[in-house]
Amino acid sequence: MKHPPRPNAYRDAWCGELTAERAGTAARVAGWVHRRRDHGGLIFIDLRDRSGIVQLVFHPETASDAHEQAHRLRSEDVLTATGTVVRREPANVNPNLPTGEIEVAVTELEILADAETPPFPLDEDTAVDETLRLKHRPLDLRRAPMLEALELRHRVVTTIREVLDERDFIEVETPFLTRSTPEGARDFLVPARIQPGSFYALPQSPQLFKQLLMIGGFERYYQIVRCFRDEDSRADRLPEFTQLDLEMAFVAEDDVIETMEAVMGAVFERAGFDVPSPPWPRITFAEAVARYGSDRPDPRFGLELKDVGEAVAGTEFKVFAGALQDGGVVRGINAGARELPRSELDALTELAKQHGAKGLVWAFVEDGGWRSPIAKFLAENEVSAVTQRLDASAGDLLLLVADDVITVDKVLGALRLELARRFSLIPADRHDIRWVVEFPMFLWNDEEARWEAEHHPFTAPAGDLDEPASLLSRSYDLVLDGAEIGGGSIRNHRGEVQQRIFELIGIGPEEAQARFGFLLDALRYGAPPHGGIAMGIDRIVALIAGRDNIREVIAFPKATSGGDPLTGAPAPVDAAQLRELGLKLG
Ligand code: ASP
Repeated sequence: MKHPPRPNAYRDAWCGELTAERAGTAARVAGWVHRRRDHGGLIFIDLRDRSGIVQLVFHPETASDAHEQAHRLRSEDVLTATGTVVRREPANVNPNLPTGEIEVAVTELEILADAETPPFPLDEDTAVDETLRLKHRPLDLRRAPMLEALELRHRVVTTIREVLDERDFIEVETPFLTRSTPEGARDFLVPARIQPGSFYALPQSPQLFKQLLMIGGFERYYQIVRCFRDEDSRADRLPEFTQLDLEMAFVAEDDVIETMEAVMGAVFERAGFDVPSPPWPRITFAEAVARYGSDRPDPRFGLELKDVGEAVAGTEFKVFAGALQDGGVVRGINAGARELPRSELDALTELAKQHGAKGLVWAFVEDGGWRSPIAKFLAENEVSAVTQRLDASAGDLLLLVADDVITVDKVLGALRLELARRFSLIPADRHDIRWVVEFPMFLWNDEEARWEAEHHPFTAPAGDLDEPASLLSRSYDLVLDGAEIGGGSIRNHRGEVQQRIFELIGIGPEEAQARFGFLLDALRYGAPPHGGIAMGIDRIVALIAGRDNIREVIAFPKATSGGDPLTGAPAPVDAAQLRELGLKLG
């Protein structure tokens, strides 16, 4: 702790700070009973406060009242104790504890609150059912890993604020009760009592407000802000999450990227997280997808995708020939020298199918050719050309997929990650961070037969608006160890361009005016060129802390079900409330 407590009836020192230097002085401490041990006549209590743990000792002869009371102490009882800091016998020194050389010989004890037996142990790092932990979150928060995670989170956010303050950014709050913002997810709606039948939407992000702040002349804005998206929860996604949201005026891509490198560089450095220092490398979307099968590339292990189309260009093997004829591709991965039983190859095939492949071709390279169910369909020169293209030698396992290019890259990207996990190829102590740039502006939505913005529709295009298929966007994502930790773009500051983008994604002028009229109107009054970015705080903290689940770095998260086991939310409301809102349940 940085600041000593103000001496009062409960404490004049933090438990964790009573070191040997304090030996011989008096101290009053307060906290929770972490552990207790009776040793013949002596009673030992490990007392815990936020700063750490100190050992209290109760002597029956010298402090009989306190000793008498200490008999009834149980785990998690709350107390204040006064005594003398004394050095421990050398044999009793605990080198693992900052306070391990001393103990407090208690003369006065006051028990402030009793605790029932906690539903799970708080003093050790044992695995506990997550729902039980969330249901009893106040107790779970007492466990050391939770305190460490939330302290780290605080340091991350404080660093962000310090760096941005130095760079003249100001934090501005934007509304939670607002209109739908199209980040591509489902909105959370809040019925409006003042206008029955109408709803507020909770913001999926402050995107439009931050653009309005640029039009308002604020130039450099940021906010650590909650965003709401009504999507199914996963390990790295919850319905409410926290972003660092940022926007700048009179900037291009490099300005936003440099700002974020300064912010995140400081965050990583102060957290002792060993990523290469900025500037960080950039990779285009096209290259990321072609080499790693993902726009969130993790290049820390090999297994790169290779196109083998040329090697099988004239093949009679129907699966490959058909894909190539239909304008598709044949690509593969050299998984290295691994022997996999048939059942595991079947599991990989199943995974490929889950990601949209019709099948998966596997082959083990042997001295004279391939051991593979499809070996007999390929000519000898095709087998050797593919083997060569994949830099393979005897013993290597090759995985090949033939289909349209999007499916093939997606499937091989997923297989690549699965192989890396299965064979523990991901180095835990080496991190990779890079920008992904030059995204396509639009993706084709087959179901709705229309273009969809890859980032969001306020992103500025790069290229010819008459060629939507080949149009790139001025957006950028930051990817850490294969996880997207942030993304943003330069925006459309000219109304005509914004209107054109809306039209291309099927939002006509009337709908655009109805939904985004306030933005289009503001753009008519002199909007500066502007751009920004948003970073996912929960994920960043989880990655730094080495936790595989963002719930571990959030004080009161929702469970995977989307519900909150602590408060019971979401919960039914009474009929009167519904009436007041003009709502009837169907
Ligand atoms: N509003 C975007 C998002 O939440 C980020 C940005 O474009 O700044 O993903």
